[in-house]
This record gives sequence, C-alpha cells and structure tokens, in this order.
Amino acid sequence: MKTYIVNGNVCFEENTEICDIEITDHYISAIGVNLPRESGSKVIDAKGKLVLPGLVDFHSHFQETVGPHTSNETYTTGTKVAILNGITTVNCFVSQNFNQSLSIAIGSAVEKAKDKIYCDVRWHITPTRFSDINYNDIAKWIERGFTSFKFYTTYKQSNLYLPYEKLLEIVRRLNRYDPTIIVHCEDEAVMNSARISNGNPKNIKAQAIIRNEEAELFATEKVIDICKMTQVNIVIAHVSSADTLGQVELAKRDCPLICEVTPHYVFLNQDRYLQENGHRYLVTPPLRSEECRELMQKKILMDYADIFSSNHRSYSKSDKDRSKIDYRQNPAGIPTIGALFYLFSDLFINQYDFPLHIYVRKLTSNPARMAGIYPQKGVIAENSDADIIIVNPNGESRPVVPTLVNSYNPWEDFNTRFSMDYVFLRGQLVVKDNKLIDEDNMSGEILCETD
Ligand SMILES: [Zn+2]
Repeated sequence: MKTYIVNGNVCFEENTEICDIEITDHYISAIGVNLPRESGSKVIDAKGKLVLPGLVDFHSHFQETVGPHTSNETYTTGTKVAILNGITTVNCFVSQNFNQSLSIAIGSAVEKAKDKIYCDVRWHITPTRFSDINYNDIAKWIERGFTSFKFYTTYKQSNLYLPYEKLLEIVRRLNRYDPTIIVHCEDEAVMNSARISNGNPKNIKAQAIIRNEEAELFATEKVIDICKMTQVNIVIAHVSSADTLGQVELAKRDCPLICEVTPHYVFLNQDRYLQENGHRYLVTPPLRSEECRELMQKKILMDYADIFSSNHRSYSKSDKDRSKIDYRQNPAGIPTIGALFYLFSDLFINQYDFPLHIYVRKLTSNPARMAGIYPQKGVIAENSDADIIIVNPNGESRPVVPTLVNSYNPWEDFNTRFSMDYVFLRGQLVVKDNKLIDEDNMSGEILCETD
C-alpha cells in the first residue's frame, strides 16, 4: 500500500515547496504537486505543517563506559527518545580499549544494539592501535560501512590521546579510503600550564579555567593544519567558543573542514555551575561565559556551523552527584538528544526566520554526508529511505525532554511549541502526536555490515 503526504511545506536541500510525497514500501517513490493517487492508499494532509527529512544525529553516546562510569542511556532507551523527537538515524561511538581488538569492541556495541533499537544506528569508531596489521583490520571495517573515525587530542588517562604528529600520520594512512575524521580538540599542554599556574584547582568551576578556550583554539589550529596538508574531511567536534568558530570558518576556504556545534555552548553558560546542583552541568569542553555564548549564537546565525548534534550523554543523578567538589571525578556530559531539534528550531525558525532548508541541512543532509549514508538518509528525494517527519510549528507549549531514563533535565528552562505529528522510519509510521504507535516495535536497523 502506498502512503501520500499531501499539501505540506516540504523541505528539500535547496528549497522548500508545497507539494506531495508518495511512499512505496520503505522508500520515497514520487514527489510532485498534486500527485495522482492510487485508490485505497493512505493519505496524510500536512497542510500548514513542515515536512522534513528524518533527522540524523551525528554525535550521541549510548551505553558507553568511561573510566568507572557507565552511561545509563541504553541503545533501546536512547533510540526511543530519539525517534519520539524526530531523529531517525543516530551515530554512536565505539572506542577500542587497550586490551581488546577492534572487532571485539565493535562486536560488543553491535550486541547491545541489535534488535533492540527504535531508530537506525551506525557508529563512528576510535581505533587505538596502529600497526600494519591493525590498519588491515581497519580497512576491513571501512568496507563494511565504518567510514567515520573519532580521535582525541586529549584524554591521556583514557588511552585516547594522540599527539598531532601521530594524528597526521593516521589521517594520511586512512586518506585513500575517503574517510570522515572527527576530532575532539583540546590541547594538553595549554591545559597543563593553566593547571599549574592556577594551583591545580579541582572544583567544578575550575574545569572551565583549565580546559579553557585557548586550549580548544590551539588544538583546532593544529588540526586545521592537518586538514590543509591532507585535504581529508575533518569535523571539528562540539566547538565551544566563538574564536574557534571563526578560525574554522576561515580555514574552510583552504580545506574540507566541517564545523559541528551542539546545544551546550549555544544555550547554556557557565553561570550554571554556580547554581544548586551546578555540578550536574559538567561537560567537556566546559560551558563558557555568557559573553562567549552570545557570540557563539551570533556566529551560528551567520551560518558558521555545518552540523548540529546532540553530544548526548546521560548519567544517573547518583553517578553525577558522586563528586560535587572535584570535577575530575564527575562524569562529563548531559542528556540532550530529545531536546536537539526544539532548541535549535526555536532559535532558527521562530526567533530568526532563517532560510528553513539551510537550517535543516545541518540536522539532515550535512551529517548524513559525513556519515557516508547520503542520499539513502538525510534528504527527501526519490529512491531515498522514507524517513520523514511532519512537524506542527504551532502546537501547544510543552517542556523539552532530553531523555526518558532516570536522570535529570538540564534543559528544564526550555519549552517548545513544535510538535512531532508524524514520524516515518523507512516508510513505516512509528510516531503519531508525540507518541510511539507501538512500544514493542523496535524496527530500527544497523546501517553498517556487522557479521
Ligand atoms: Zn561526545
């Protein structure tokens, strides 16, 4: 049976247009004004609504263990809150531990997700061993769709840290596969000198003094050099300061640099650390000053960001509350995935009337391209997967809910009037009026080959 979505304001990559969409099985089979309809088909009138590609979250952490802390967001609960809020594909992370092979690391993530997900999932991978044999292994996984990598210029204790020379060597070795390289940029030496000159403070607010804007800017400049030398697609992850945004924007003239922005540094500032339970806002990089936040907002409204992601990470209150005084013992990250669309849409659509298709690209086709899943995902086009959301921009005001697990809501000050009227996942209607149609229907698929 075919489904028709008619009269909606449909968001394409290059424009928006009032037209109809025909869905056959799992894909989009036709697009046009007044499409002829097969009799007996299902028709959804989307008049006055926004019809967008299913959102692609480029950056989310589910069920990961970092040091002694494990995120309490499972693949099942994480994909559930994702699909309820219009996200039809989530990019998660797999890091290779020092004592395991890449295959074991990937296998255990797949095991956690397989047949237990409400939306589609793929992974960015972080290999940590780089002998010739390891490169052969990496090549094998690239062939199976693991085409995007995350590397870090920090986190020595977690065995993730890479010096810039090593990072350059890795990017050069991977270059032939046309990969996407995502880099978390914070410079260890800059942070160390801030640590020493400030007497090694440990309180939550000190994190912002040590992991400062300069550290991000310095590391980003080094990574920009690598991008210029190799011309490989490099995503600067979760840019936290307006200066870094400016540097990245400038460098885009010379190399394929991509700028990822998350809601943290656009909608929150470090005054949060002074509130009661301020330690629950601990994120890395840290929240910045109000002045910096304001500049971030101005620059993303000047179109500096390419991808908007959630950088979702949820911990239980008891995990977050274990250390209120020493930032190093506090697991970094806040639940955000369920809030992603509403926070940015309120700014871009309601407050600033930004060109809709340019804004929506940052949540759809741009991340899909970098994840190597475009045009199957991230776009409303013939033959693409029918991942489509129908959004009412004038619904009743309601709070944004970043997670459904037992955590806390760092976005409790934010409301939205956007309502997810319909969410289609590969042609199947899975959400109606902000609710799952069938709680037992975990029909998400893994977008990489895993056997
Ligand atoms: Zn992250």
